[in-house]
Amino acid sequence: MIRVSTLKGKRPQAKGTKSAKRLLKKRNRREQRHVKNQNHIIAKTIVTEAERTSAGISLEELKGIRQRVRLRKPQRVALHSWAFAQLADFIVYKARRAGVPVVFVDPAHTSQRCCECGHIDKKNRASQALFTCRKCGVVAHADRNASHNIARKGEAVWTAGRESRVPATP
Ligand SMILES: [Zn+2]
Repeated sequence: MIRVSTLKGKRPQAKGTKSAKRLLKKRNRREQRHVKNQNHIIAKTIVTEAERTSAGISLEELKGIRQRVRLRKPQRVALHSWAFAQLADFIVYKARRAGVPVVFVDPAHTSQRCCECGHIDKKNRASQALFTCRKCGVVAHADRNASHNIARKGEAVWTAGRESRVPATP
């Protein structure tokens, strides 16, 4: 699993003074540069791995605050939406260059659905980290379970896209 963390240390409180504001801006810029760098590295890692294993990449559509990225192996990232949008851009760009397919999927129920039996229930999500299916009893890491669902949705989107595609334009 890959996680992107923001820079450590406390943010200066914006008290309205010029120097405080300047410092805050500087830190924000530094943080954005840091995230951008990380995003490039993560995107490269994901695309390279997808290329190596002949896998596609399935991304949750941007809706909430945090989003997940799923490759076949659990290489997940948890990011804020602007950072995720940037990462998605980098992934799409690098994947296109490498000829790796990328699909975007609807994130609905990915956290509540059991990846083993398909049962959807809010109660399946026992805690932030734990998934326990109320129907079949499977116990899994919540992120991993969700990742399987995202991958499955990605496959469905990919297959549907292929089937509906009219003869490729030359
Ligand atoms: Zn189940």
